[in-house]
Amino acid sequence: MLRKPYMRIPYTDVLAAPTITPSSANTLSGAVAALREFLTAPSPNGIPTSTLVITGAGLSVASGLADYRGTNGTYRVNKSYRPIYYSEFLQNHEARKRYWARSFLGWTSLHKAKPNSGHFAIKQLGELGLVHSVITQNVDSFHPKAHPSLPTIELHGYLRSLVCVSCHEELPRDEFQEDLARLNPAWAEFLQEITASGALDTENPEERRRRGMRTNPDGDVDLPDAPYTTFRYPACPRCLAHPPSSPEGGRATVEVDSDGAWRASSTAGILKPAVTMFGENIRKRTKMKAEQTLEEATKLLILGTSLATYSAWRLAKHGKDRGIPIAIANLGGVRGEDLFFKDLEPIHDGTRGARVEMSTDELLPALVKQLQASTSMHNAPEHHSHEVEKHGASVFKDMMS
Ligand SMILES: [Zn+2]
Repeated sequence: MLRKPYMRIPYTDVLAAPTITPSSANTLSGAVAALREFLTAPSPNGIPTSTLVITGAGLSVASGLADYRGTNGTYRVNKSYRPIYYSEFLQNHEARKRYWARSFLGWTSLHKAKPNSGHFAIKQLGELGLVHSVITQNVDSFHPKAHPSLPTIELHGYLRSLVCVSCHEELPRDEFQEDLARLNPAWAEFLQEITASGALDTENPEERRRRGMRTNPDGDVDLPDAPYTTFRYPACPRCLAHPPSSPEGGRATVEVDSDGAWRASSTAGILKPAVTMFGENIRKRTKMKAEQTLEEATKLLILGTSLATYSAWRLAKHGKDRGIPIAIANLGGVRGEDLFFKDLEPIHDGTRGARVEMSTDELLPALVKQLQASTSMHNAPEHHSHEVEKHGASVFKDMMS
């Protein structure tokens, strides 16, 4: 079906405002009613229903993670912010130092953040038998955390692990964080200070500065006594112990300094976050799994994403080409969305598709409540704490690319 590799590239066009359909879905109760019809309608010809959910950054906003697109699809918060590209990360030791310095400061906040009511509502939709699989573009691991029994394909990978670009071994990010702290004591001290001062709890540069976190116009922190040009990061332990073969023949070189930090004389053993960076192709196995899941789906529910990344948009487009009903809930426009709904009648009940504009953390729990009330499965409702914790949102944005 889709033969080309999926490359992750940012899409910077401004997206048109959505047309809500059915028109009655412009209130919370109207949107809930349309999505209830959409999810509960039987598939034509008695085919068993299999609903696939595709999610994006909008779903994680209520967990305190910034969506780096504003509602009209433009980049916001830090105007000068530019995500790192895969080729740059691979080729440039200096770019990696900068990436890991930023990531070191951002990790603590991401680690503290939790799935929100939107994620738990998806879990409950799974338990009600109305959602069967999830494909997410998010790299925050909230889906597998919130609903381990409902299968999730993480299209763009995950920040919880690192992967070696030479031997493809995966390592936990937690331990790597400890290594970074050990290799960069001035940064570790600084991280403690700004965590204590609350500087990471705000996105406002003025407020951050007041709380002791000075950044340059690019949003980088540069410590006077330890500029990020001196930031150190470890080598892949497996490649260090057994250097892999080099493409030119013979063995690659993996060298570290006396503390175990990767040296620029090395030709292998570079660790990268286990995410698909911009300009990088999605892992072949992940792409195939995503395509297969889509092939088996009879309905597509798209949540909290503008489908700005080509990979996600292609999946949705293919669902449309297959003629399966599609519903979208997103604040702001969605790439090429006219195409998804152009064949719907002006007045309809949502069975064949819907477009609503609501935040998922409000919409999805209301939908679950409504569905539970109308089925016999509401005798054991689950209660979760969905405290919204916001911290370091713009740091996340930098880390999540
Ligand atoms: Zn390795």
